[in-house]
Amino acid sequence: MDFNLTEEHLMIRDAARDFAQTELLPGVIERDNAQTFPESLVRKMGELGFLGIMVDPKYGGSGMDAISYVLIMEELSKVDASASVMVSVNNSLVCYGLEAYGSEAQKEKYLSKLATGECIGAFCLSEPEAGSDATSQKTTAIDKGDHYVLNGTKNWITNGGRAEVYLVIAQTDKHKGSHGINAFIVEKGMPGFDIGPKEDKLGIRGSDTHTLQFNDVKVPKENRIGDDGFGFRFAMKTLSGGRIGIAAQALGIAAGAYELALKYSKERKAFGTEICNHQAIAFKLADMHTEIEAARMLVMKAAWDKDQGNNYDMSSAMAKLYASKVAMEHTVEAVQIHGGNGFVKEYHVERLMRDAKITQIYEGTTEIQKIVISRGIIKD
Ligand SMILES: Cc1cc2nc3c(=O)[nH]c(=O)nc-3n(C[C@H](O)[C@H](O)[C@H](O)COP(=O)(O)OP(=O)(O)OC[C@H]3O[C@@H](n4cnc5c(N)ncnc54)[C@H](O)[C@@H]3O)c2cc1C
Repeated sequence: MDFNLTEEHLMIRDAARDFAQTELLPGVIERDNAQTFPESLVRKMGELGFLGIMVDPKYGGSGMDAISYVLIMEELSKVDASASVMVSVNNSLVCYGLEAYGSEAQKEKYLSKLATGECIGAFCLSEPEAGSDATSQKTTAIDKGDHYVLNGTKNWITNGGRAEVYLVIAQTDKHKGSHGINAFIVEKGMPGFDIGPKEDKLGIRGSDTHTLQFNDVKVPKENRIGDDGFGFRFAMKTLSGGRIGIAAQALGIAAGAYELALKYSKERKAFGTEICNHQAIAFKLADMHTEIEAARMLVMKAAWDKDQGNNYDMSSAMAKLYASKVAMEHTVEAVQIHGGNGFVKEYHVERLMRDAKITQIYEGTTEIQKIVISRGIIKD
């Protein structure tokens, strides 16, 4: 067992850290206030290879491993979780879904553009009446021979207004339950595909979240991903990898807040000494450091499982469950350590606290991760 990162991993982490500090940090408060998508930064992240991290270079990707992916996600998320969720969705839901399960023609047409950042993608599973219970899909895709006709509503879609390629899950035969579900590639601009207004959110306010409407959208048959009836399995397999990205996002949010709190506690004085010298604060820092490191181990293990070709359903669920809990609890502590300054925007920790909450909700809530983990334990 080797806990050391390779030279290459260290270089990748440093490049992501440098980008986050020099490009994401300036303007992050303004983007959060105004709910502005980090538009100009998408191209730069594409140039750095952050949008197709694990994609084969023959499709324009960086050909890196999942360890590199989580290192990049952690560094970006320390500063801007709105930018990092765009990166996570594009990498582990859209690019991975297409590369692992798409046809050669689909990869050639869509993957290279997505992997280089020429365009970005969205993953559309959730509906007003189908969130945790994803089998209750109400969006339908009716087989019309050479095409499907898509009708329904998807909500909470990250990159919803900004994407150009949408992977949409829909029901093709309700009598077949989860085997009557398929995944389709839908392009922005297809007639009948409408994008609703942007959501006004508690956190990750710079990310672009929309409801999408499909009214008799004609989707060519060659845009179905995999064999007929593969859609639900496609969604579950893809989300399993997505959870590694969100776990790394939660880790980054927690680590970012901890680094700010540690620095602040060494500068701020109360009762004649730096506040880190008060044991109540020092013990908070000790708990934060320990639990963030434990979360990092779980995130790395899940990424390592993926790189080794091991099943990572359980390890990704455990990483997301724990890292998101650590993110929520320790961003609250980081605000506490900052006192009144923690409550205002310029110190960044209140934003990290708001951003942390979503990591316990999307790509499977905390309760759903516990269902995945407990089923895995009981089955063994
Ligand atoms: C900002 C944001 C971005 C998102 N991005 C995307 C995206 O890009 N693509 C996409 O498809 N979706 C996206 N989502 C949707 C997200 O994945 C869902 O919100 C999430 O899966 C929960 O579904 P729900 O909101 O319908 O809650 P529900 O499923 O209605 O759950 C409500 C509560 O009940 C609990 N619950 C439900 N079932 C059980 C059970 N069996 N046992 C115990 N507890 C249970 C849940 O854990 C939760 O606490 C996003 C959501 C948000 C807020």
